[in-house]
Amino acid sequence: DEFTRRNLQQLQERTLALIKPDGIPYMGKIIEAICCSGLIIKQLRMCKLSRGQAKDFYKAHMDKPFFEELANHMSSGPCVAMELVAEDAIAKWRLLLGPTSTEVARMKAPSSIRANFGTDSTRNAVHGADSYDSARREAHFFFADRMFAPCAKFFNVTLGIIK
Ligand code: GDP
Ligand code: MG
Repeated sequence: DEFTRRNLQQLQERTLALIKPDGIPYMGKIIEAICCSGLIIKQLRMCKLSRGQAKDFYKAHMDKPFFEELANHMSSGPCVAMELVAEDAIAKWRLLLGPTSTEVARMKAPSSIRANFGTDSTRNAVHGADSYDSARREAHFFFADRMFAPCAKFFNVTLGIIK
């Protein structure tokens, strides 16, 4: 499909990154870390998820004990969604953000984004797609209306509410 074709054509992988509401005070530092690591921000959009949208985004976790807390957190304030592009972007971004738990991140990956800007197990500053399929799904979630817009020269930065 188009997502696969673009990836192959550019020899560049695309992924979806999210600054969660608790990470918003550190968004400058998080964006700096992204840019310094060789990941290109192709699209960026600030939005506030409704509780329903947060549940939909994380629906793979609907049976987990932390699901309600996660949905509450994700809809508690604005998020910044970014489509990142680079060779091996999915793994690169996962490595940069660090382990899920802030505590584990501080022990095992002290220079990661979660170690530096996370607070606890739920509030861990950032999200990253964990596979090709989730990258595609999550990129569509935030950028469906701009997925394949011709933006070779002009990047797309939008502030507003996702539909
Ligand atoms: P991720 O891919 O590293 O973000 O981790 P998961 O996909 O497993 O979980 C999604 C999100 O749910 C995490 O980023 C956390 O915000 C939250 N979460 C995951 N595991 C736990 C947990 O054991 N306790 C709590 N409170 N939240 C969790
Ligand atoms: Mg995950």
